Amino acid sequence: MTTSLKDRAPPRPAKLTRNQDLVLACLTHATTPLSAYALLDRLREEGLKAPAQIYRALEKLTALGLVHRLESLNAFAACEDLNHHRGCGTSQDSALVVLFMICRRCGLAREVSDPSLSAALAALCAAEQFQGEQHAIEIQGVCRNCAETAESGGA
Ligand SMILES: [Zn+2]
Ligand SMILES: [Zn+2]
Repeated sequence: MTTSLKDRAPPRPAKLTRNQDLVLACLTHATTPLSAYALLDRLREEGLKAPAQIYRALEKLTALGLVHRLESLNAFAACEDLNHHRGCGTSQDSALVVLFMICRRCGLAREVSDPSLSAALAALCAAEQFQGEQHAIEIQGVCRNCAETAESGGA
């Protein structure tokens, strides 16, 4: 096993509630994005019993930019690097576009952001006079590990 990218825990603001903290910790330690129900399963022992508790925590964490929602998976992932998009949730203009490379074999979602890509997309939106609000792009494919496994296994 290689070490997970998610081992680098983002700094947590102190203002999180216990539920928000639990949900964030769970996502930070997960190797793949988790759905709200997968989170509920894992946090039942901690006393979280209602889906609404999970959704409320996710809503707040997403608004804070600590967690990203992956539309194509209907799942959530902890932000891998808060420095990537410091303006997230506060100012649309300063928020970087986040790119998720999602492996369809192992479910790994790699978060990447690139200032020049963000600038290019912002310029495209401006040219179309479109007010972009969603700053995550999801690309489905096969990660390096899975590609190598497939090659050596002859599958
Ligand atoms: Zn992020
Ligand atoms: Zn993979």
